[in-house]
Amino acid sequence: MNKCERCGSNNTKVHLTMDEGTMHLCMDCYNQLLSEELEVDLEPLIESFSLKDYQGISRTFIVERRLDPLGIFLEAVENIDFGYKFAVYGDLNDNQFVLLNKLIEKVGKGIGKQQVERKVFPNGQPYNTIIDGQFTGLIEYDETADGTPLIIIDGKPYKWGEVGKMLMAYEGFQIKLKMVEVTDDVE
Ligand SMILES: [Zn+2]
Repeated sequence: MNKCERCGSNNTKVHLTMDEGTMHLCMDCYNQLLSEELEVDLEPLIESFSLKDYQGISRTFIVERRLDPLGIFLEAVENIDFGYKFAVYGDLNDNQFVLLNKLIEKVGKGIGKQQVERKVFPNGQPYNTIIDGQFTGLIEYDETADGTPLIIIDGKPYKWGEVGKMLMAYEGFQIKLKMVEVTDDVE
């Protein structure tokens, strides 16, 4: 693992390719470098925040900011594996506190609504059901599967086969699938 070439941190996340070659940097040093380059101030944002989900359970999110030459990317990643993740994108000269509020609002909206419910058949076997016939999920890599994804719904990972079983309650229906960038809003 490469160390950050500026501060020596082990938390190298960015590989920046420039004329002089590739630089390995931690996110802080990368943002610092771009803020100088692009003449954009890095506003002091909170590092994490917690909000209650649809069950009233507190969920904690780590805020990560990434500048790029075209804009500012803000991400809220839940502090557990395969948890919730939300992101927003703004212009370089957008107010970063406003952008952060937009992100927090998006998190609140996203975790405030339950989409999949666990029920039990009369014979005692549990099953999952899609509430209102629709859900928004996040596609992630499933290292235990052979090329099929893991879908994160309600901040929980579901295997592709589990999603398939949920769909069987709608046998005979049409299905509409649409890919939406993580920074966009799902209609
Ligand atoms: Zn660094």
